[in-house]
Amino acid sequence: MGAKVLFMNGDFLPFEQGTISVRTHGFAYGTGCFEGIRGYWNAEDQQIYLFRLREHFERLERSCKILQMSLPYTVDEFIEISTELVRRNGQREDVYLRPVIYKSDQIIGVRLHGLKDDCIITSEPLGNYIEITGLRCGVSSWRRIDDNAIPARAKVCGGYVNAALAKSEALQNGFDEAIMLTNEGHVSEGSAENIFLYLDGELVTPAPSENILLGITRDTVIQVAQRELGIPTRERVVDRTELYNADEVFLCGTGAQIAPVIEIDRRPIGTGNVGPIATRLQELYFDIVRGKRAEYRKWCTPVYSL
Ligand code: PMP
Repeated sequence: MGAKVLFMNGDFLPFEQGTISVRTHGFAYGTGCFEGIRGYWNAEDQQIYLFRLREHFERLERSCKILQMSLPYTVDEFIEISTELVRRNGQREDVYLRPVIYKSDQIIGVRLHGLKDDCIITSEPLGNYIEITGLRCGVSSWRRIDDNAIPARAKVCGGYVNAALAKSEALQNGFDEAIMLTNEGHVSEGSAENIFLYLDGELVTPAPSENILLGITRDTVIQVAQRELGIPTRERVVDRTELYNADEVFLCGTGAQIAPVIEIDRRPIGTGNVGPIATRLQELYFDIVRGKRAEYRKWCTPVYSL
C-alpha cells in the first residue's frame, strides 16, 4: 500500500498535499539535510520495527548544526512523530522513512544563515535498494566531496549530486555500484553506502576522516562483527588496490542493508563469489532489524502497541 499521509508544516497531511514552491531555497540550492530510516515488518509479532531511529535523528541534529539549521523538534518528539506517521498510514510492510529539513524561504540569494527551516517526513514501502546477492562495482572517476567542500559527515541534500554523478557513471559503464575515492586517492565509500573489506581475519573500513558519512549500519556491523563473530574492525586509511586483494568486500547502509561485492574493476574479489563473512553478517543483520534477536531489541522501535 502506498503512503496516505505525510508529515509537513507541523501536521499530518494527505500525501498529495506534500508540495513545495519552485522558489524554495532548499530546492534551488540543495540547502537541506535528510535521513533515510528503515522499518521492518515482523509478521510473527504483527509489528513494524524502526531500526535505530534515535541514532538517525541524532545524526540529523548534527547535520543541521553544520548547515546552521534549527530543528523544530527534539529527538524524542521526532521519534513520536515517526511512529505516528507509520500508524496513520496503517503500513504493515517494510517501509522507508525520509525526514528532510530544508531552508524553506522563497528568496533568491545563496547563504545559510537567517533563513526559515521546515520539515517533511514521508513513510513509503521500499524493497531492496541495491542487489544483495553479489555486486559488480567500479571505482569512480568522480572523487568524494571533501569535508572542506560539502561535509560528507552531514547528510546534505546538495551533496547527493556527487553521489548521483558516481552512480550514473557506474551504471552506464555496466557496473552495479560506484566506489568513490577521496581527493588523496584513498577509498572512501559507495554512492550511498559505507564499505568494508575482510582481510587477514579482520574487517577494515575507511576511517571517519576519509570523507565518509558516519553510517549507522557501519556502526551496527562493527558492533555485531565483534560481538557475534569475534571479528574486530580496523578504521584506517584504505588504498584502492587493497580492494582488489581483499578476501571479501561488502557495502552497507540503511537502503543497501548488507550488500556483498563480488567484483571490482573487473577483478574478482576473493573467489568471485559471496564470501562467508558477508553471508553471516547479512543473516545476523536481517534477524536484528526484524526484531528477532532479543539482545538487539533496544535498536528496534515498535510502531504499534503490543
Ligand atoms: N554513505 C552515504 C553517502 C549514504 O548516503 C549512506 C546512506 N545513508 C551511507 C553511507 C550509509 O549510512 P547509514 O548506514 O546510516 O544508512
